[in-house]
Amino acid sequence: PYDVLVVGAGPAGAAAAVYAARKGIRTAMVGSRVGGQVLDTEAIDNLISVPHTTGPKLADALRAHVNDYDIDVIERQTASTLETDDGMTTVRLTDGDLRARSVVIATGARWRNLGVPGEEEYRTKGVTYCPHCDGPLFKGKKVAVIGGGNSGIEAAIDLAGVVDHVTVVEFLDVLKADDVLLRTLKSLPNVDVITSARTTQILGDGSKVTGLEYEDRTSGEVKTIELAGVFVQIGLLPNTEWLEGAVERTGRGEVVIDERGGTSVPGVFAAGDCTTQPYKQIIISMGAGATAALGAFDHLIRQNPA
Ligand code: FAD
Repeated sequence: PYDVLVVGAGPAGAAAAVYAARKGIRTAMVGSRVGGQVLDTEAIDNLISVPHTTGPKLADALRAHVNDYDIDVIERQTASTLETDDGMTTVRLTDGDLRARSVVIATGARWRNLGVPGEEEYRTKGVTYCPHCDGPLFKGKKVAVIGGGNSGIEAAIDLAGVVDHVTVVEFLDVLKADDVLLRTLKSLPNVDVITSARTTQILGDGSKVTGLEYEDRTSGEVKTIELAGVFVQIGLLPNTEWLEGAVERTGRGEVVIDERGGTSVPGVFAAGDCTTQPYKQIIISMGAGATAALGAFDHLIRQNPA
């Protein structure tokens, strides 16, 4: 069996694998795609000490760093269950079971899509999911935030300080965000809110976003707004369905972790976007992966020798 089995090969998984391997223990990293969400990213400007990189370049760098160590990289495999029995954890993969004395879960998350025409076509050409990443690209421009929950309103407040104008577009007839956020939002001069609006299309000129079309759900009228960017904030779904009943998760599916990355099951750790760790970012996931691997190592040295 492995000492540490890392499930997931994004920034959190790669960091966990490198930190575990540096302890000289038997380490494997399982991942359907080395790089994770980073592969879907164009420009990355907020990975501290790397002023500018791209998703594919960072994914290559993660792979190169993992390959510097004695880590079994098990690619194109998906984990479907996790069971712990008598200090040993078994993870079921596409091609069979793997056993380990400790596991780091780092299966990340995926943004919920609107599923409307133009969204896929203009992804990274004006359609974005991450205000912390892409806000500065829209300096002096008009944008919309789709979604009036906490993440949408936080994004709108954040963007209002960076861009020229923000329109919040919400499907329901009310904004569901916390009152304190709504009060701040209302105090901002460059934010409009449209409720009861069903986004029907992202409009563009072939190379970039030029606007957004929505249906006014009260009147049935179809309207358009001219803008340069659309921030979709209708939820981040953790890739944790496979952990049903195995470890404690929140109602939103995030794996509950403590400050060492420990989960509700001894020997099972977790890191990155699949967890309760706030602020889903590359640098934060990398730090969390390192923490979880060190947590796993601490756990192992407290067990009876295998
Ligand atoms: P992920 O990157 O999601 O990696 C999870 C890995 O687990 C993947 O390899 C996945 O294939 C694998 N996996 C999932 N389920 C299973 C399973 N059952 N079995 C095996 N493997 C599985 N952050 C920034 O800091 N700066 C940016 O500029 C930035 N831009 C972004 C742009 C876009 C378009 C997106 C989508 C995200 C962006 N982010 C950015 C966020 C950043 O990419 C994430 O916070 C980060 O990748 C999370 O790392 P992670 O390792 O926790 O998860």
